[in-house]
Amino acid sequence: MRIGHGYDVHRLTEGRKLILGGVEIPFERGLDGHSDADVLTHALMDALLGAAGERDIGVLFPDNDPRYEGISSMVLLREVMRRLREKGLRVGNVDVTVLAQRPKLRDYIPHMCVHLARELGVSRDRINVKATTEEGLGFTGRGEGVACHAVCLLEEQEGER
Ligand code: MG
Repeated sequence: MRIGHGYDVHRLTEGRKLILGGVEIPFERGLDGHSDADVLTHALMDALLGAAGERDIGVLFPDNDPRYEGISSMVLLREVMRRLREKGLRVGNVDVTVLAQRPKLRDYIPHMCVHLARELGVSRDRINVKATTEEGLGFTGRGEGVACHAVCLLEEQEGER
């Protein structure tokens, strides 16, 4: 077993879509960034890469590279998973916490889990996503941005150690 942790933050701004876990969520603002700024998928990719000993998404997909401008983070996640499989690693489980004062994410979470389970090649019950407000405190509480923590376990396939 190998453990990984990822953390990411993106600023909320007008004129952008809000995409979390590959799901577009209706809201008056969205996350700013070079890619689609899917903060959940970014934190998750960093957890996966961390567990694999493969640095982080900033190294893999530099934010000054025009190839990644506006790209769906689910496409980047597919590339991360390709690298993990190449190393003989598969996902045990992942657990993700999104920190957002608004909007309420509860109703969108099952859809996110379906997307993520498909990309990670695991059953739905190995993916957990939860959301919390921060009681109005800090930059997330003031609605200036959305943060996300992710942890994962990877399993080394027999003979790959
Ligand atoms: Mg990011």
